Amino acid sequence: MRGNGRARKKALAMGICIFLCSGNTGCFPSQKGMEESQRGSYPETAVSEKKEQAELDFFAMNTYHTFSAYGSGVDTALEEARDRVLELEAKWSATEENSEIFQLNHGNGEVISLSCDTADIRNFTLEIAEKTDGALDPTLYPVLTAWGFTTKENQIPKAAELQTLLENTGWEKVSSEGNQVQIPEGMELDLGAVGKGYAGDEAAEILKEKGITSDLLNLGGNVQAIGSRPGGGSWRLGIRDPSGEGNIGILEVSDQAVVTSGNYERYFVGEDGNTYAHILDPSTGYPVKNGLMSVTVITKEGKKADALSTSLFVMGLEKAENFWRAHPDFDMILITEEDEIYLTEGIRKTFACEDPAMSKNIHIIEKGT
Ligand code: ADP
Ligand code: MG
Repeated sequence: MRGNGRARKKALAMGICIFLCSGNTGCFPSQKGMEESQRGSYPETAVSEKKEQAELDFFAMNTYHTFSAYGSGVDTALEEARDRVLELEAKWSATEENSEIFQLNHGNGEVISLSCDTADIRNFTLEIAEKTDGALDPTLYPVLTAWGFTTKENQIPKAAELQTLLENTGWEKVSSEGNQVQIPEGMELDLGAVGKGYAGDEAAEILKEKGITSDLLNLGGNVQAIGSRPGGGSWRLGIRDPSGEGNIGILEVSDQAVVTSGNYERYFVGEDGNTYAHILDPSTGYPVKNGLMSVTVITKEGKKADALSTSLFVMGLEKAENFWRAHPDFDMILITEEDEIYLTEGIRKTFACEDPAMSKNIHIIEKGT
C-alpha cells in the first residue's frame, strides 16, 4: 500500500487490517498495472489496456481514510468518492457551525429543514434505534461530552449529572416528518455511530457508477470491500485482536462491508483506575462493560454494518445472539475479554484464526440453537 504513512498507521490501528499480499497470487498490481508487474515489458497497444490502480488517503469524520481502486479512470473516480464523503461530513459534523446537525443541535427546539442525505440517515438511524430497542441511540451527545469523549478532556461524571443529562436523551423524542426534524431543547443528535458506514456506501456507489468494480475503501477502520481483488479471489481482511497486538484472525470477503466497534481503542483510565470507553449504554449513560471487547458486522451495506456493530456491542453476547437469530441477514464476530470468539454460521468457512491454537476458542452461533 502506498500513500501517506500516518494514514496507513492509523488505519492499521483500527479493528480491521487489509491484507495487500497473500502469497504470489494475492498481490495488488503496481501503479503501472498488474500484468506489467507479472510479465515485464509490454507493447504500446497493450499498455493502454492495462488496469490502473490508485490510492487516496484523506482525513474526514475525525479519522483517516484510505481508498484503493482498480480499473480505468480510477484517479478521478476516487476523488469524486472522497468529495462525497467530505460533503456528507459538512452536513453531519457536530462541531462545524454550518452543518445541518450543528444547526439542529443549537436550534433551541425549532423545526429544521434537512437535505435529503440528512433526512435519509436520520430515518435509517431511528429505524435501527427502534429495531435494537434503543441500544443504538443517536441522542447521547451531551452524555458523551460529560465523559469528555467529544472534547478529549476525559473525566468521570457524577452519577447525578448523568441522571440529569439522560432526561434529555431518547431517540423516541426526535420528531420527524418528511425532510423536517425537531428535537427538544437541550437534546443533541449525533450520527457518529452510523455516518462513516453511510458515507462508505455513498463512496462505493460513485465508484460503481464509474464502472469500477474492484475497490477497497477503508473509512477509519470501516471497510467496504467491493467486488473481488484484481485478478480474482476474495479480499483478505485482518480482524484485530482486541486484547493484544496484531490480528486474531483473517476474514475473506467480497462485496461486503465489514465494520468493527469495540472498547479497546477510544478509552481512558479514570482516577479510580478503571477504563472507560466511548460506546455508552443509553439506559445508564455509562460506558458499556459487558464482557465484549469487539463486535464486527459483515453485511452488504456499510450503514447497516456500522449501526449494528455499535448496537450489538451495547447489547452484549446473549442479546446479540438473540438479535441475530431474529434478523439473520448479516454475519458477526464477537470477541470477549476472555478471548472467546463467537462467529455466526455464515462465516465459519471464511474466518480463520491467525494462530491455529486459538481455533479452540471459536464458537459457532447457529440459527437453530
Ligand atoms: P467508531 O466511530 O469509533 O468507529 P462506532 O461506530 O461504534 O465506532 O461509533 C461510536 C460513536 O457513536 C461514539 O463515538 C459516539 O459518538 C456514538 N455512540 C456511543 N454510544 C452510542 C450508542 N449507544 N448509540 C449510538 N451512538 C453511540
Ligand atoms: Mg458504528
